[in-house]
Amino acid sequence: MEGCIFCKIISGDIPSKKIYEDDKVYAFYDINPEAPTHFLVIPKEHIESANTLDDSNIDIVSHIFKVIGKLVVDLGISDKGYRVVNNCGEDAGQTVKHIHFHVLGGRSLQWPPG
Ligand code: AMP
Ligand code: ZN
Repeated sequence: MEGCIFCKIISGDIPSKKIYEDDKVYAFYDINPEAPTHFLVIPKEHIESANTLDDSNIDIVSHIFKVIGKLVVDLGISDKGYRVVNNCGEDAGQTVKHIHFHVLGGRSLQWPPG
């Protein structure tokens, strides 16, 4: 979608530190990491947020979690643990309106979040 920074990352118009890519998803390191390991997994299809998931696009979520399961092993954070976060909407602090799943690990994470 025009004007979307994550669509531009997928197309290569904005550079990123890619971790993984297939025909459906793209994974890359967050530019402002909140943990020693912090990456994002996004669908290649522009979906604005969890609020716009429906029967036509929901299958991408299971694929994203399958990819996350592989990447956390590859990056060595699966054993000690990690957190998967989806911020949806203003109150959750969603700043990029292209659905994304944060994966954070490599340190002890606090709960509840602020
Ligand atoms: P959220 O606040 O949940 O919408 O998360 C958006 C995330 O995207 C933030 O953690 C940003 O640091 C990250 N981000 C924004 N622009 C870029 C970029 N060009 N490359 C990598 N990560 C980015
Ligand atoms: Zn987009």
